[in-house]
Amino acid sequence: MSFFEAIDPVFRTYVLCNAPVKQIATGFDWVEGPVWFGDAGCLLFSDIPNNRIHRWCPGAGVSVFREPSNFANGNTRDRQGRLVTCEHGTRRVTRTELDGSITVIADSYRGKRLNSPNDVVVKSDNSIWFTDPHYGIMTDYEGYRSEQELPCSVYRVDPDGHIEAVATELKCPNGLAFSPDETRLYVADTGRMFGADAQYVCVFDVGPAGKISGGNAFYTISPGCADGFRVDFDGNLWSSAADGVHCIAPDGHLMGKILVPEVVSNLCFGGRAKHQLFITATTSIYTISLNRCGMQHP
Ligand code: MG
Repeated sequence: MSFFEAIDPVFRTYVLCNAPVKQIATGFDWVEGPVWFGDAGCLLFSDIPNNRIHRWCPGAGVSVFREPSNFANGNTRDRQGRLVTCEHGTRRVTRTELDGSITVIADSYRGKRLNSPNDVVVKSDNSIWFTDPHYGIMTDYEGYRSEQELPCSVYRVDPDGHIEAVATELKCPNGLAFSPDETRLYVADTGRMFGADAQYVCVFDVGPAGKISGGNAFYTISPGCADGFRVDFDGNLWSSAADGVHCIAPDGHLMGKILVPEVVSNLCFGGRAKHQLFITATTSIYTISLNRCGMQHP
């Protein structure tokens, strides 16, 4: 049985024909926000409806890292290695300091509460970029149903705490990632909940002082959507999809797919050489070793 599908023949050099897609944990409801901690040799991920962040370590399996997690969704690490988390329940983005204390990075904009921060990435200048769609306040499943006060936007938080809405014209921004040289910012628009909006990944040019421009359509995931994605060392975008993980080249063509038996929400690179893909997919975590390395920092 093949675990991948090569659309472009070059994709065969990205995968290993004897490396399986392995389920390493299951029994969750909707997993998201994977992030690899190489120093601790573990993966953290959110189980959003069950209000927990879990830790998976090879050999030791799964344990609870944080409960309640305030319905945490996306996670990443900043350039100092600290955990940065999007929380639906408290409608905020937080940083977990090295001593375990929590610092609020953003919970409002111009006096109004954020919606439900979804995914987050940290740029090399230490600015923190996150998406704020309304998914976590539309139902009580992944947070608390409540009033939307702000349009769904992409925000940048500078190291001095200044927060700015950098993209306000998307319906519902979701996954986001920078290209390796940080000249591009990819953002998924997965459309309003219960709506019929077009879903696609758009690409912005990143200029000086954290300004972005453009926002043209880059790629449309089908089947499924670009809930979450990461970029590899060569700039390929590895995105969630309904049938697995799709690999899209920097010029926007589909290279190939990793086939996963559950709907994928997100993924990250990790392992010894950042060559291992960790995939959050509905009720389970899957992993596969690749012949590619991720750009995850640090
Ligand atoms: Mg997401």
